[in-house]
Amino acid sequence: MKRIGILTSGGDSPGMNAAVVTAARSAALFEMDVIGVKRGYNGLIIGEDNDTKGMMALDLETVLDIADQPGTFLRTARCIEFLNPDVRAKAAKRLNSLGIEGLIVIGGDGSFNGARALCNLGIPCIGIPGTIDNDLAYTERSLGYDTAVNVCINSVRQIRATSRSHDRVAVVEVMGRHCGDIALRTAMCTGAEQVIVPEMSWNVHQLADRINDLKEKGDTRATIIVAEGVYKNQSMENFNAFELLSSYDKNYYLTHSPNEPMNSHLLAHVLRVLAPGCEARSTVLGYTQRGSAPYAYDAAFAFEAGHLAAKLLHSGISEQVIGIKNGKVFYMPIREALDMKPTFDTAMYSLVNSL
Ligand code: ADP
Repeated sequence: MKRIGILTSGGDSPGMNAAVVTAARSAALFEMDVIGVKRGYNGLIIGEDNDTKGMMALDLETVLDIADQPGTFLRTARCIEFLNPDVRAKAAKRLNSLGIEGLIVIGGDGSFNGARALCNLGIPCIGIPGTIDNDLAYTERSLGYDTAVNVCINSVRQIRATSRSHDRVAVVEVMGRHCGDIALRTAMCTGAEQVIVPEMSWNVHQLADRINDLKEKGDTRATIIVAEGVYKNQSMENFNAFELLSSYDKNYYLTHSPNEPMNSHLLAHVLRVLAPGCEARSTVLGYTQRGSAPYAYDAAFAFEAGHLAAKLLHSGISEQVIGIKNGKVFYMPIREALDMKPTFDTAMYSLVNSL
């Protein structure tokens, strides 16, 4: 190959830039040009054949100083149009017209589906798993996950300092969409007394009992780590915070709506009611989790994965995704990787919630 493209797609994650830099440096070693495609798959479809609108040359001078920057220098975006086969066929034709013979896609499972579709159109693609959620079954870690967990650990320690001072319970909501890995790992690393994840059923009464038990044992500043997807858990389907809180406060309806969806602020309110004396406060960590420069684990993974992706394309190997198994970087077919079912560490989950 003489020229390859690289794009970041889906949600941004720490380490994406580092992977782009190493891929570009490695491509230079293999005497391949690298074209950066901006804003995910949008950059492939925004221009016409033979024009480079939505793309940029990634020469060494351009990329050298971005490796440790948070976010993604190439920008990222969702691209609904790419679900349309005709649009993808146009993108493949445009790539051919520009002499871009292969593509590195850094993103999550959605982005990998896009890459698989491009492979079917004759564009060799390699995927690097870039998502903080760690929701890709085939790899132990995705790029950005470890850094996001580190950000959560630092935040929980800070929150716990003030919880300790005031004998307060902290409800801390972390990201992860339908995956509880960030929450579980954060709980393990901070000694949080409770973790709630979308993979496991839970209810507010059990949670209140747990807080009461902890208080009896002398733990007055318990930390509860909540994954953002927990309110969509089936076990929460019939729970109505408005009904419960209205039964304790006859004026509750004056300032609240029955349709307010359950969230971490409401959960803290519910706990203040169900566990008397518990001064629960909630914090939603939100996008801070994505905004850090990569920590060592992700920076090293990005380095290896960026190089391997360029090497695979250079060697004529395509339709693969890169991952980590037993601490070693490896690759496997996209198709098989996407068919794998995620697992959750229920043993660690039970341990956190029982100590
Ligand atoms: P992630 O890659 O983090 O899972 P999304 O699910 O939002 O993020 O997917 C990112 C982008 O990948 C989508 O906006 C779309 O452009 C592309 N994509 C997702 N699913 C498919 C699919 N089935 N076929 C083709 N492209 C897809």
